[in-house]
Amino acid sequence: MRKAPPLQTSPNSKIPRARSAQTTYEFYVSKNNLLSHRFTILLSPSQTGQYLLAATRHEFGHVLGIWGHSLQPSDVLYFFQVRNPPPISPRDVNSLKRVYEQPMSLGWSVQGK
Ligand SMILES: [Zn+2]
Repeated sequence: MRKAPPLQTSPNSKIPRARSAQTTYEFYVSKNNLLSHRFTILLSPSQTGQYLLAATRHEFGHVLGIWGHSLQPSDVLYFFQVRNPPPISPRDVNSLKRVYEQPMSLGWSVQGK
């Protein structure tokens, strides 16, 4: 959705910060009794051009399963927006491969329902 995400407040600062994008998710049990998840990406209308594309790439990284952030500015999943947003890096791809190597319950039948 092209909608401004809510302001971000941290315990260390009383000043709320604007975000360019935000991804939220919820888990639910589908009609066929499978554990599923649903994501919502908010992209601020103030983001345009390469910054909108960069924010979208970053948030899709979260949607695909990388819930954390990178410490490398050359990665799409870096914490902050950078002046020249990078393309998807080999490190981003490797992070995603690692995520998909983990055992998980998503997509599997929910017992006892
Ligand atoms: Zn992020």
